[in-house]
Amino acid sequence: MNNRKGLIFNIQRYSLNDGEGIRTIVFFKGCPLRCPWCSNPESQSFETEYMKSNVNGNIKTIGKWYTVDEIIKEALKDEVFFNTSGGGVTLSGGEVLAQGEFIEELLKELKENDINTAIETCGYGNINVLKKILPYVDTVFFDLKITDNQKSKEIIKGDFDTIKKNFIESTKSNRVIPRVPYIPGYTDDIENIDEILNIVKKCNLKEIHVLPYHNYGMSKYEGLGREYELKNTEIPKKETMEKIKKYIENKGFKIIIGG
Ligand code: SF4
Repeated sequence: MNNRKGLIFNIQRYSLNDGEGIRTIVFFKGCPLRCPWCSNPESQSFETEYMKSNVNGNIKTIGKWYTVDEIIKEALKDEVFFNTSGGGVTLSGGEVLAQGEFIEELLKELKENDINTAIETCGYGNINVLKKILPYVDTVFFDLKITDNQKSKEIIKGDFDTIKKNFIESTKSNRVIPRVPYIPGYTDDIENIDEILNIVKKCNLKEIHVLPYHNYGMSKYEGLGREYELKNTEIPKKETMEKIKKYIENKGFKIIIGG
């Protein structure tokens, strides 16, 4: 029995996204980045906080401490579905690397229980933590956002060099799916897309997921008393996404929009 705890802001069962089959998604609270388009702003702070619902005005506490055993217990409730659907548990965030020791123990325990594991990471974290957890991860969904180091620092508050290094490290040993949030005015310029494709190609990966910008998280900013910077940003049109899909396909990649 281990008493270490992780700060979690949501555990979502029966998810059909975020990996193969039916999955339980564990959302870790705390992220070192500050992407202005973040659709989970309640995930960013490393502390519990309060968010007002825009539906009924109720105040909700965001963030609860869990032990590894408590999460495993929750995950095992759906073991049958995992086995029949090829699903498992996805650790998401926030940023999983930021709670490294806890995540390592949790992943080990999930593997002890023969559960398929995936992580969703922004890649901005300590490479030693990453190396420690990779042996217990079946699939790494890895975000690549802004490749210009300076712009990356200014806009999302983390340098791209660190992210790139961690990305390359992950691809050496693990199944990695690169994910590109397609955010008008931030990540959608062709130089940026080309540079991402170069990196992905160098790592011998064939598949890439592009996630079109959406504003589902807008009301949460209000609930947290924060300003949403992208309120004038338009949702990319279907034709725009079709165009980018063709562009990436023509470069020899398999692309999934919204994967
Ligand atoms: S990395 Fe993800 S969780 Fe962190 S701020 Fe960016 S979008 Fe939000």
